[in-house]
Amino acid sequence: MIHVLPVGDIREHETEGTMCWCGPHVEWNDPETGEAYAEALVIHHAADHREAVEEAEQILRERGTTKKTDIETLRNADWDKVERDVVTRIRVLKDTCQHLAPTDLNDELAEEMFLPMLRLLGEFCTRIRIDESLDEQGDVSRGDADGAEGGA
Ligand SMILES: [Zn+2]
Repeated sequence: MIHVLPVGDIREHETEGTMCWCGPHVEWNDPETGEAYAEALVIHHAADHREAVEEAEQILRERGTTKKTDIETLRNADWDKVERDVVTRIRVLKDTCQHLAPTDLNDELAEEMFLPMLRLLGEFCTRIRIDESLDEQGDVSRGDADGAEGGA
């Protein structure tokens, strides 16, 4: 097994097997060509929530490629994993906020931890501007992969 670890992460990862605390993503095939890897790729998740782009670059480096970021790199990044990771963390944040009792300590957490996280999300949303004309055509809001597309 080849372990792909986030460089200089704030928490140590388990590099035996696939049972790390971070719930690593295990790849058996090249997602692009479908070709089976000689060894499974165990891709660990960063504890410090660094940018997904950095992880994608790291994966490519591990595969012996040494190019800088270009659109090809990003096109082949594991976007499904990015989506899963982000959505999972938003849900955890929401769940945590909804279940914490109103104590002084929790108020402090709200102020020092949760609000800053929401600010980051807000900044992220502001940076990616969604063209409303695209939205009307359904190009960005299309979320279902079970395809309503059959015909045409
Ligand atoms: Zn890990």
